[in-house]
Amino acid sequence: MVRRSLRSRSLKRSQKKVPGGRTVTHYRRKKPSKAKCAKCGKPLQGVPRKRPSDLKKLSKTERRPERPYGGNLCSECMREVFRKKVRED
Ligand SMILES: [Zn+2]
Repeated sequence: MVRRSLRSRSLKRSQKKVPGGRTVTHYRRKKPSKAKCAKCGKPLQGVPRKRPSDLKKLSKTERRPERPYGGNLCSECMREVFRKKVRED
């Protein structure tokens, strides 16, 4: 039996054939769900589906779109927020 930490179902399993002809199970972390817009809930473009530790390895510009509210709101919702802001002032 494999070690206790690998028995968790929160790990993804895949069967790999090794050069010796044996089939072994490889375990890896599941991908997190897609980043969603805070206003409408649509999946965000340009935000990679990675665990926080892997996101840290990317540059800041690879983590989210470079615009106001990038990685938080989708582009349509961002525009709406700005339209509202302009009308208020
Ligand atoms: Zn939105």
